[in-house]
Amino acid sequence: MILTADLTGQTVLVAGAPKAAMRAIRRYRAAGATVHTLAASEAFQEEMLDSVAMVVAVEDAAPGWDMLPEACRRQHVLLVKEATAVRGGLVTLIGGGPGPDDLLTMRALAALKDADVVYFDRLGPHANLRWLAPGAELVDVGKRPGHHPVCQEDIQRRMVDSALQGHHVVRLKGGDPYVFGRGGEEVAACIKAEVPVTVVPGISSAISVPGAAGIPVTHRDVSRMFTVVSGHLPLAEEEYRHLAGLGGTLVILMGVGTLPQLVAGLRREGMRADMPVAIVEQGFSESQRTTVSDLAGVVTAAGSARIKSPAVLVIGEVVRQADGRTGRQELAQLTRLASAGA
Ligand code: SAH
Repeated sequence: MILTADLTGQTVLVAGAPKAAMRAIRRYRAAGATVHTLAASEAFQEEMLDSVAMVVAVEDAAPGWDMLPEACRRQHVLLVKEATAVRGGLVTLIGGGPGPDDLLTMRALAALKDADVVYFDRLGPHANLRWLAPGAELVDVGKRPGHHPVCQEDIQRRMVDSALQGHHVVRLKGGDPYVFGRGGEEVAACIKAEVPVTVVPGISSAISVPGAAGIPVTHRDVSRMFTVVSGHLPLAEEEYRHLAGLGGTLVILMGVGTLPQLVAGLRREGMRADMPVAIVEQGFSESQRTTVSDLAGVVTAAGSARIKSPAVLVIGEVVRQADGRTGRQELAQLTRLASAGA
């Protein structure tokens, strides 16, 4: 049963040893309640229920507590039981998907709900973390204007240290942790420190952001493969040659900064000048925007549209398959491209 209650300004008595009750105490405080505690070493007295709205029994069998359930009934105080928080620390890496909360998986939601600390950055869902992870300390390790992000080694060290102290550490990432997400490094750091670690997959922007613009990365008779490329750094000539000869769809992440090099490289290695290209910025947000062009025109188009990161680039015939979700202007461009290509 899931119960939603407004506890703002209410007094909640949490019964249980401090360590076992730690998460419950933090969660009820975060919900705005005034938290009183009853440690397992203390005897229960009925006066303790004065002005208490709810008793949370993390442990309910301590000596001297026999009166607790009966007293709650008499005083019409709600008594709920909660699982104890005592167990070894662990790390859960969560793929948070491309931004909106409702693209998180149920497994991700369960881990967030149980978290003691969440390390997050700005690509994944973060606006409602206070509610999604009510018992957790929230740590922003991403880039903010004027602030340096926490470096990867630091993130890993902090995650491991916190788990070794017995906490459930959640590392929340955009998309899927294993797609340009440094998930492998974080898992390795946990294994090295002998901290139990699990990975919850997420919806990668590589497939979902083109989809948000109505572009399928594969399409019957049009493209039967897609290749996901990091544009973080310019590629080697050999890689441009390889990509230009592949066929199918190319999906480029982190490619806004290196777009001119990518386009020049693919052109040099023989990709057609009229190959359709789409750039989808800020997928799934209110500012989502799609710019459609072709290989010859995309650098100019991106410049005049002032394309900014985060954006996913799609290069291939599938761009012409975009459904009605792309704007009227883009569709007109597509039609022009289609007739130019025909
Ligand atoms: N692990 C992530 C990718 C991390 S790399 C995943 O699987 O999606 C970061 C890049 O992802 C960004 O530079 C951008 O190219 C892309 N990206 C992630 N979310 C995006 C979004 N909502 N809209 C557009 N691009 C996005």
